[in-house]
Amino acid sequence: MDYIKANTAPRREDRLGTCIEFGGTVGGIAEPFCQGCLKNRRRSFSQGTICQLLPAVAILTSLQDTVVIVHGAIGCGGAAHALGANVRLGQWRGGDKNPRGALWLSTNLNERDVTSGGEEKLRQAIVEADKRYRPEAIVFLSTCVPGIIGDDIDGVARDLKDKVSAALLPVHCEGFKSKVMATAYDAIFHSFLRNLIDGSDETEFPVFDPEAAQASEAIRRKRLVNLLNVSSMTGPDQKELIRLLGKLGLEVNMLPCDAHPEAFRLAPLASLSVGVCPTHDDYFMSYLEKRYAVPYVGSHMPIGIENTGNWLRGVAAKVGQEAAAERIIAQEEAELGRALEPLRPKLKGKTCVLSAGEIRTLSTARLVQELGLEVLAVRPYHYDPFGQPEVERLSDVNPGIRLNVATAQPFEAVNILNRVEPDLYIGHNSDNVWAAKCGTAVLPIYGSNAIYSGYAGVFDVARRIHRHLENNSFNERLVKNVRQPYRESWYAEDPYKYIIGAELTA
Ligand code: SF4
Repeated sequence: MDYIKANTAPRREDRLGTCIEFGGTVGGIAEPFCQGCLKNRRRSFSQGTICQLLPAVAILTSLQDTVVIVHGAIGCGGAAHALGANVRLGQWRGGDKNPRGALWLSTNLNERDVTSGGEEKLRQAIVEADKRYRPEAIVFLSTCVPGIIGDDIDGVARDLKDKVSAALLPVHCEGFKSKVMATAYDAIFHSFLRNLIDGSDETEFPVFDPEAAQASEAIRRKRLVNLLNVSSMTGPDQKELIRLLGKLGLEVNMLPCDAHPEAFRLAPLASLSVGVCPTHDDYFMSYLEKRYAVPYVGSHMPIGIENTGNWLRGVAAKVGQEAAAERIIAQEEAELGRALEPLRPKLKGKTCVLSAGEIRTLSTARLVQELGLEVLAVRPYHYDPFGQPEVERLSDVNPGIRLNVATAQPFEAVNILNRVEPDLYIGHNSDNVWAAKCGTAVLPIYGSNAIYSGYAGVFDVARRIHRHLENNSFNERLVKNVRQPYRESWYAEDPYKYIIGAELTA
């Protein structure tokens, strides 16, 4: 279905049947998911979740030469303050020796705007941002308030199109519309495809023309591939993937994170799109294929030994470099194997629980299995069809691994931790804090200077796991000195007690 003609991308719940409520095992999710039984589930009690605005702001504030306007109440986008250091680091790595950090503004809607409308404030903010910063692009995000009162942000973009020099990119990111934060990825790509790549409004859409597509084959840059990155990939991650693609003789047009708007305009001219996370990239890559005949690969996240090999094989198959890929993989795996030798005996048999975005959690779980750890539970933020192959691979090792699909929900996390008592918890810092308070050793699944991707990532994760397991004295003392927020009685309850329709499993 061609979603692009609509102003907004569809909700992930509707497009993919995505769910964020499940408690069971990796061997037990396929059937209820395929039968649609997990659709429209909900929790009767929910503690902390993630609004789609957070990943949207994280991606958009990293863009070069771009101003981000959060159109909403002042609190919306507040989490962007925590992203400042990362954005500055990205700019510094990109060669800016005096990085200015994230450039984002708020229209600061108040009670009066709720009754009289916020479009005028948005208009003023766009004109002011264009005059003050002269950016290549201005992205403005619609939040809950303008979504509810009906501000027409696409109309504002049309009105101002010829009055400002920046490209205008309205993004519909109202938190209340979707419980799945990954909907933000589609919302961003939707706007960039409509307004920057197709470069048209809904009245003048280019119709796919096979002859024009063939002609564009001729001018396509043979060695250029779009490499889709995610905001939880670090600079060293990107360097590792560019290194591996470089070994196949490929040049990289990296986007969306840290990219210049020009990178999006270049995307239809690439010979291939390479994704690193199917749940993140499919909306963009499948549209480029359909409209501009740019093929894509992206069913594996290059985290872990097997995943990285399969990722490279997928790329190589598209560019006719299969034999070269096999040589590279054999050489890299041999080198990695030697580097891992002293660490393996120290990691063998340790136990682990993981939590983060869907594919990130499941791929990293496979990585730690490859290192000899036992995975006791995985807690992806959501679940959709892209997670199925990853879950199946975990299930092949042990179908009884606990699977808790939950965006945050720390009360479920601590209940599970109390039952399985792992040696290690791997998650984002917002999750890790709960595990640390339980006394468990924690490893951040993302960190500005760390590396997780490719073969270098496998070694670095192994090295850091070993270090955290060797000395967990801080968390061991922490658990003795903090007051837990939950009553003892909660730990005796089923962790999925509040998921309506769940079969209790504890
Ligand atoms: S849920 Fe709505 S009001 Fe809250 S931060 Fe997200 S967009 Fe803003």
